[in-house]
Amino acid sequence: MTQILSAAPVRKKITKDLKSECVYLKENGVVPYLKVLLVGNNPSSVIYTNSKKKYCEKIGAKCDIISLNENVHAKQFLDIIENINNDSDVHGCIIQLPLPPHLAHLDIGKLVSSQKDIDGFHPENLYALMSNRDLENHFISCTPKGIVSLLTEYGFQIAGKKVTIIGRSMIVGKPLACLFTNLDATVTLCHSKTHDLHEISKSCDILVSAVGIPNLIDESFLSDKKNQIVIDVGMNSDSSGNLCGDVDFEKVKDLVYAITPVPGGVGPMTIISLMQNLLQASKKRLSL
Ligand code: NAP
Repeated sequence: MTQILSAAPVRKKITKDLKSECVYLKENGVVPYLKVLLVGNNPSSVIYTNSKKKYCEKIGAKCDIISLNENVHAKQFLDIIENINNDSDVHGCIIQLPLPPHLAHLDIGKLVSSQKDIDGFHPENLYALMSNRDLENHFISCTPKGIVSLLTEYGFQIAGKKVTIIGRSMIVGKPLACLFTNLDATVTLCHSKTHDLHEISKSCDILVSAVGIPNLIDESFLSDKKNQIVIDVGMNSDSSGNLCGDVDFEKVKDLVYAITPVPGGVGPMTIISLMQNLLQASKKRLSL
């Protein structure tokens, strides 16, 4: 029977740990504090930022969403980030993507200081991930970190596995390829120009789809041995406007060893990782 890799039991366990860590930090004078910058009112972005705030408050941390007008001037936007970077009460800052076109030229990875960049987008954090050094003092991108936590919590070994990742974005595919490589998996990173995508997918142990196309992954991407783990990162809307992944879950679920659901799989794990990173940033203040 196929194992459904739901985030729920993992979330329950990790939430307990995060709550205890928050209590400890507060007893020692540090209130973990996240600021989220939201530009405009893209419905998905509003939902994601509210979920982050809700989970932050659930574990006992503080979170402010700074909602900016869609047409906010670039200078005002940059000034707000600069103020957050200089505010010693704030431990983490994230910029909700996507940004409107007039801000798209900004090099987002460099705006939030590396010590508050709990999304793990800053070049210093990415370099630590690439070089697999000093990771306890840097932040690992949240979706990759969440995927590895999910697999680890379900007891899957990563070392030695063949991993195929479809999608080479800076926020999912590339950092995930680094993280799996650091954990001694052998990774093939695929994209829209990859030849033989089906064959590469069929021959792996762990298949990750981070593309953004509903129902892209069907039985034609899978081995007939029913021994693969499928991780669906996609967060898309189906024709009725409902959240769906990249994987055609109904077609695929009986053909694999394990699979993540959407919703309830990688999405919640990403938020958990964000909170782990926030508390990691907050703990730094204990020694000041
Ligand atoms: P992105 O920046 O748009 O990148 C998409 C990637 O997919 C690109 O590398 C692209 O290739 C590749 N691609 C597009 N069509 C393809 C095809 N037909 N075959 C193979 N590869 C193809 O996307 P992203 O930001 O990584 O997001 C991907 C999906 O994950 C979206 O649904 C997003 O909403 C979701 N997401 C979920 C979470 C979560 O927490 N669950 C977090 C982040 C993103 P090229 O590079 O060649 O263009």
